[in-house]
Amino acid sequence: MNVQDPWRLNADLHCHSTISDGTLEPEAVVARAHAQGVELLSLTDHDELSGQLRAQAAADALGLAYVPGVEISVTWAGETIHVVGLGIDPLDADLVAGVARTRDGREERAKEMAEQLQAVGIEGSYEGALRYVGNPELISRTHFARHLVETGVCSDVGDVFQRFLSEGKPGFVPHRWAKLAQALGWILGAGGTPVLAHPGRYRLNDTALWALIEEFREAGGTGIEVVCGSHTRDQYGRFAGIAREFGLRASRGSDFHGPGESHVELGQLPPLPDAVVPVWYDWPVAGRRS
Ligand code: AMP
Ligand code: MN
Ligand code: MN
Ligand code: MN
Repeated sequence: MNVQDPWRLNADLHCHSTISDGTLEPEAVVARAHAQGVELLSLTDHDELSGQLRAQAAADALGLAYVPGVEISVTWAGETIHVVGLGIDPLDADLVAGVARTRDGREERAKEMAEQLQAVGIEGSYEGALRYVGNPELISRTHFARHLVETGVCSDVGDVFQRFLSEGKPGFVPHRWAKLAQALGWILGAGGTPVLAHPGRYRLNDTALWALIEEFREAGGTGIEVVCGSHTRDQYGRFAGIAREFGLRASRGSDFHGPGESHVELGQLPPLPDAVVPVWYDWPVAGRRS
């Protein structure tokens, strides 16, 4: 463990397992992270905590520092925003109930997606997607994407999203997720640190992005992803500047979903810029005692 320099610690605080839309079991994600040189890990499945004790146990067995995590789907100004909660108590009753409510409606949404896809000539996509689902409560667009690639409708997952699963395309069904303040309330109530996930991915102009970050901060948000799997190198710099401007701590995470599918491997990202304070700066688990 790199105790002296938190900026050089290989922290990966955003990834997924079969508990949501990843392809590896929680234990396999942890083992792979360890093998890739990750020194501080959080598994952050979408709207679901049931992988946390498994991941924690696997990390403990390997001597890998671990913080429980989650990625909550939020609807803000009509857009889907993701908020990562780090260092949460995965057994906190309000958090567990909150993410369970957030999961509600995924099945119905998936059936509507399949109907829309059928209307453009793609048969049986609901049943097809289900074959990729590890957790029946968490059927997601990713599972549809895998099915459409496997059946040769599209060349890769990115192609599926471009042609079928993004807003305005046949197969996109808008959904109401949690409210921003609710999600932050659950995370804070469970003792966690709320982190705005992949801010560079939202289709928001500067004014809207500023409003989002301001509201996030006012609701108790303290972190923002700076170096992450969805950001370009330019965006590392841009969001480092924004983190400083808004007094937010910076996070780093691959958003790994599985071998061969994610473009960023666990732990394989550049370090955080020196100008920002890592979100793990004073966490005891990261090797520093405050
Ligand atoms: P859902 O929660 O069902 O709306 O699905 C969202 C998930 O789809 C995200 O967590 C990503 O894993 C995946 N996703 C979204 N956009 C893309 C994209 N353009 N390319 C690949 N995967 C994507
Ligand atoms: Mn995902
Ligand atoms: Mn996300
Ligand atoms: Mn994610």
